[in-house]
Amino acid sequence: MSFEKLGVMKQLLGAINDLGYINPTTVQTRAIPLVLAKSDIFATAQTGTGKTAAFGLPMIQRLRANSDDVNRLIRGVILSPTRELSIQIHEDMKSFAKYMNLSIALLVGGKDIEAQQKILKKGVDIVIATPGRMLEHAEGGLSLKGVEIFVLDEADRMLDMGFVKEIRKIHPMLPKRHQTLLFSATYSEKVRKLSKLLLTKPAFIEASKKNSTVDTINQKVYLVDRERKAELLAYIIGSRNFRQVLVFTRTKASADQLVLELKKDGLKCGVIHGDKTQANRVKTLNDFKEGNITVLVATDIASRGLDIEHLPYVINYELPSVPEDYIHRVGRTGRAGRDGEAISLIDIYEKYDIKEIERLIGIKIPQETVEGFEPDPTIRRKDEDELKLKSEHKKAEKKRPTKKVAQKVTAKSIKTAKVVKKTNKKRKTTKRD
Ligand code: AMP
Repeated sequence: MSFEKLGVMKQLLGAINDLGYINPTTVQTRAIPLVLAKSDIFATAQTGTGKTAAFGLPMIQRLRANSDDVNRLIRGVILSPTRELSIQIHEDMKSFAKYMNLSIALLVGGKDIEAQQKILKKGVDIVIATPGRMLEHAEGGLSLKGVEIFVLDEADRMLDMGFVKEIRKIHPMLPKRHQTLLFSATYSEKVRKLSKLLLTKPAFIEASKKNSTVDTINQKVYLVDRERKAELLAYIIGSRNFRQVLVFTRTKASADQLVLELKKDGLKCGVIHGDKTQANRVKTLNDFKEGNITVLVATDIASRGLDIEHLPYVINYELPSVPEDYIHRVGRTGRAGRDGEAISLIDIYEKYDIKEIERLIGIKIPQETVEGFEPDPTIRRKDEDELKLKSEHKKAEKKRPTKKVAQKVTAKSIKTAKVVKKTNKKRKTTKRD
C-alpha cells in the first residue's frame, strides 16, 4: 500500500517523502481514507504506531482551503493531554503541512496566554491544545463555531488526568456538524462513555492489540558481555546459516559500528537509519529483499513503516529504549504458516530493560548463554549492585505519593495562611494546563 493509493494529495506526498516515510503504517492505512470520507473515528492506537500522521495528514488535506483573512475561524482542533505531546504533534503537523499555506498554532498551559492570543488574532486554521488552555481561550472569547474536525489524542490519558470536565465544556462550543476523531491507547469503560457522547456512527480501528504479535513468536534472550555482542551475532548468523536477518540497534552510531564489525567477519550487510537518504534506504531494502545482503541493521525509527515484515529472524543487538518498540521489532518475524524467531542479545546493563519488556508483553522470555560467550561473572557482580540500586530507586519513585497528595500534605503542615494560599495558587495553574 502507498500513501498515494490512500488518496493523499500531492503536496502532502512531498512532505511525507521528506520525512522518509515510505509505506503507511496499519493505523494510517485504515484511518486516512475514512477521515477523508468525513467519517467519525474511534481508534485504539498506541504511541509509535504512526497515529499522529493517521489523523494529521487527512485533517490537513480536508482543511487545505486557505485564506489570509485574519478574522477567519479555526477549522481544526487537536486536544492532547500534555504539553510535551502537544509540542510533538505541533512539530509533526508543521512538517506535514510544509508545502501548504495553513497556520497551525500551539496553545498549551504554562505559556503566556497573551502571546497566544496575539497569534490567534492573525488568523489560525488548526490549533493543538491541552484541554485546560483550550477552554481558557474559548471562555475568553475564541470562537470554535467554525470547527470542522475535532481530534482527541490519547483520550484515555486525558480522562485519567481528570480533563473530562474541560472536554464536556468544550464540546457544546463546537458547531453541531463536525467530524470527531478519537484516539486512545486503551479501550476502557471511561473512554467508551466519552465516545458515546462525542462520536456519531464512528468507524472502529484497532491498530495494535498489545500482545497479539508476540504470542506466536519464538523469543529468546542470550546473555553476553557488551564487548562480545558483535562477535556472538556473527557466530549465530554463521553457525545457523541465517540467510535473511534483521538486526536492531538503539542508535545510528551503533548501527554503523556494527556494520563495520560484521563486514570484517565477511557478512554482507546493509544499514538503514535516519542519516541515510530515502533513495539509499529504498536501495538497501531492495537489496535485502532480493537476497543480495544477509544482514540488515536498522534503528527503530528508520525501520518503522517500511515493508519488511514476515522475516524468519529478528535480532535485537540492543534493546529499544521504549519497551513498546520491542513489540514492533519482533512483530516483523513470522512467515505465513511458520513461526518466526526473535533473539535479544542482552548485557548486564539491559537486565532492567528486559524486565520492563516482559511486564509489557506478559511473557517471561527464556534466558540462555551460548557456549564460549558466557558473561564474565566479575563484571556481573560489580554492575548488578548498581543496577539493583537503580531498580530499587525506580520502585521507590513509583511508591511516592502523587503530586496532588504531596501538595495537600505540604499545605497542611505549613502554618501561615499566606504560604497555604501560594501553594493553592500554584496547584491551580498546574491543573489548568
Ligand atoms: P506516532 O505514533 O505518531 O508517535 O509516530 C511514531 C514515529 O513513527 C514518529 O517518529 C513518526 O515520525 C514515525 N512514523 C509515522 N508514520 C510513519 C511511516 N509511515 N513510516 C515511517 N515512520 C513513520
